[in-house]
Amino acid sequence: MTSRPFNFSAGPAALPEEVLTQVAQEMLDWHGSGMSVMEMSHRGREFISIAEAAEADLRDLLQVPANFRILFMQGGGLGENAIVPMNLSQRNGSGKVDVVVTGSWSKKSAQEAQRYADVHIAATNAPEGQRHIPVAAEWQLRPDAAYVHVCSNETIDGLEFHELPDLKALGSDAPLVIDCSSHQLSRPIDWSRVGLAFGGAQKNIGPAGLTLVYVRDDLLGHALPICPSAFDYKTVAEAQSMYNTPPTFGIYVAGLVFKWLQRFGYAGKTGLAAIEQRNIDKAQLLYAALDGSNLFENRVAANCRSRMNVPFYLRDERLNDAFLAGARERGLLQLKGHKSVGGMRASIYNAMPLEGVQALTAYLRDFEAQHG
Ligand code: PMP
Repeated sequence: MTSRPFNFSAGPAALPEEVLTQVAQEMLDWHGSGMSVMEMSHRGREFISIAEAAEADLRDLLQVPANFRILFMQGGGLGENAIVPMNLSQRNGSGKVDVVVTGSWSKKSAQEAQRYADVHIAATNAPEGQRHIPVAAEWQLRPDAAYVHVCSNETIDGLEFHELPDLKALGSDAPLVIDCSSHQLSRPIDWSRVGLAFGGAQKNIGPAGLTLVYVRDDLLGHALPICPSAFDYKTVAEAQSMYNTPPTFGIYVAGLVFKWLQRFGYAGKTGLAAIEQRNIDKAQLLYAALDGSNLFENRVAANCRSRMNVPFYLRDERLNDAFLAGARERGLLQLKGHKSVGGMRASIYNAMPLEGVQALTAYLRDFEAQHG
């Protein structure tokens, strides 16, 4: 193994080095086929075997129930912000969409859905700063909403649902839609509480350009007439994600990441349980360092801090540039916060080893000793 820097990018983000090495080895000739995966027909037997294995492994890792379809699509998270309402908002003829706004991404989802549906903000943590998730029992859900949207991990604001809301217990029959872009595959999903989940691949799964959609069977077949055929979930599901050319290279890399995760061991566990445990340990280490500091702070309520995206601020913002320059010198990359919120952000997705977070916390201590 080479010693590459630790990359804290929010996405596109670091991938497991083992996977990148294998991709490089197979680049010119995949398994004796004489072709790169990029050069194969998506309908040929080689690629079909790659796509089938990727889907089966993902289903196995996330324990996706048989009545959910897994779709490999294009369009990203922002594409899904339109594709979901185009597919679901007339599910029950109401055209009504309830959205819980907990940060930048759910706000964007609400705005986009407004182009296709009657949108109601069922709860919001604005304007006092996006630092907590409103208690589900207090959400103002409409009885005839076609679905309820939440962003289960707010990548910019650093808030995560550690338990998905149980809409049935709240008296709602609507399916829950989750934008799980930035924490999918970092922890299990309670499918009994979800109707549809979507996320771009470029954080925990693979290269940008692949979008994963997990959709319950009964939610297929309700698309608006204006919905492009290539984005009609029923059409895509019936064609096994091959209605149009899927992002083949992304599916291939994702498949290797799934195999890596199946082999992954940590703290006596394997697979998703192991990666979840390592994610918990990494997050605890980093939040403890921030909470124990007089120079750095994270401002998110303790019960909804994200395990994946940890925004933090220097109490003296004049030190921001020095902090980033010193980080780069130590091989700690892409720590600058999103431009809309400023400060810093460490994204510590599945591929970030514990050593990466240890290197970051050591740097936080050293920097504070020098400048605090
Ligand atoms: N939702 C969330 C939670 C995200 O983190 C992102 C991207 N950072 C998006 C949506 C937008 O995804 P894309 O850029 O793939 O359209």
